[in-house]
Amino acid sequence: MIVMKFGGTSIEDIPSVKRVVEIIDSRLEQCPVVVNSAMGKTTRKLLDVARLSADGMEEKAFLRLDEIHEYHFDMARGLIPDFENSDSRTTLERYFEGLHKLLEGLSILLELTPRGQDRILSYGELVATTIIASTLQSRGINARWLDARDFIITDERFTRARPVDDLTCRSIQEKVRPLVVSGHVPVIQGFIGSTRSGVTTTLGFEGSDFTAALAGAALDVSNIEIWKDVNGIMTADPRIFAGARTVRNISFEEASELTLSGAKVLHPGTIEPARRKDIPVNIYNSRQPDAGGTTITAHANKGTNIVKSIAYNMPVCIMNIVSNSHADPSGFLRSVFDILDREGIVPYVVTTAGTGIAMAVSASEDMEHAIEELTRLGTVNIAGEKATISLVGENIRTTRDFAPVVFQNLEDVNIYMVAQGASPISLTFVVDESDIPSVIARLHEAFFKDPDPDTLE
Ligand code: ASP
Ligand code: MG
Repeated sequence: MIVMKFGGTSIEDIPSVKRVVEIIDSRLEQCPVVVNSAMGKTTRKLLDVARLSADGMEEKAFLRLDEIHEYHFDMARGLIPDFENSDSRTTLERYFEGLHKLLEGLSILLELTPRGQDRILSYGELVATTIIASTLQSRGINARWLDARDFIITDERFTRARPVDDLTCRSIQEKVRPLVVSGHVPVIQGFIGSTRSGVTTTLGFEGSDFTAALAGAALDVSNIEIWKDVNGIMTADPRIFAGARTVRNISFEEASELTLSGAKVLHPGTIEPARRKDIPVNIYNSRQPDAGGTTITAHANKGTNIVKSIAYNMPVCIMNIVSNSHADPSGFLRSVFDILDREGIVPYVVTTAGTGIAMAVSASEDMEHAIEELTRLGTVNIAGEKATISLVGENIRTTRDFAPVVFQNLEDVNIYMVAQGASPISLTFVVDESDIPSVIARLHEAFFKDPDPDTLE
């Protein structure tokens, strides 16, 4: 048994869905469970529509909803034979009526709650899986549409819900396994789940990877395949650095360090379920199914390069807080972290000294309230337009004088904060956002001069 997850860009138009159908068809012998994201940029578009409605711009919201409707119906017409008279059409119409009613509700309430947001976003995956399941059936594949909300059971943290592990695992075993055993190909939505009392939740953006890993771990599959539109994990972000190479193999620890350091290739929650069950995770490109991709395993080949990949987070700001009570440094730190915890802010880098603390945090979130709270503890200063850079690789663990080598290559760059030692396999530092392309290019040149053919493509 295997899990195959297809992201939004792998199913964004008719040709890409056809490619995906062929890929699934080529793996029927391995008994696949299929997990789908919403198609193309649907999740983003649904979020825009919801915000417009809650802002009182109902007309505009409905026009946009019509576009989303058209997009999916065009696809369905091109993929499902006799779509106009099919059950899929009835199902899709029902979903869009549901969405329409929800938007009406928002435009009366003029408020978008996290709970309402999850409900609306869930339609992206529901619609996508309906189309994919019928397309597969029309090609003679014994596909069976399932509602992930029957088995991905989560807490009530809407927009970033966490699965209740044992309950989710048991439910997947009960609801999904028998279908595979009886020769079906289950098609399930990534990203969405439900609370114990049946209220729709989502696992956070890019959460479909996480669903795939949860399903894979519960079903003890031999492989979890994540299909994207890139050739796997790269040595650097190819949009920033054209010379980036594909990393063929990487360890769970390296991969999870990378996702937490800003590499967008996987949802950070994906690695843990796979690692717990020691299931290899493969990242493949649905546009080049025969390219090797990246394999993530417990003991990946370390290779001869010190670094496996360079990741970055942007936009970041440095928040500096100097305590106004110098009497109790540990109480100060505790209060700072309490506030961060309540506000859901996870700093990338933290340094403390006597009476103060500096943190590099994501600048994309709304931090006004957190800053207000922190100001009670001391003087808060914010420096924006920064970025974190992380170098990740198992070989860093055993390389002496690694940091000096890094910084020798960056002599004329302003480095604001450095974190070394918190993880033995990575080094993270903070630079100006505008320096990112040149810093990545120089580090790539320094650490991948002689690329190891066994670990890099
Ligand atoms: N559709 C959701 C998103 O765009 C979940 C996913 O794609 O993984 O974030
Ligand atoms: Mg997506």
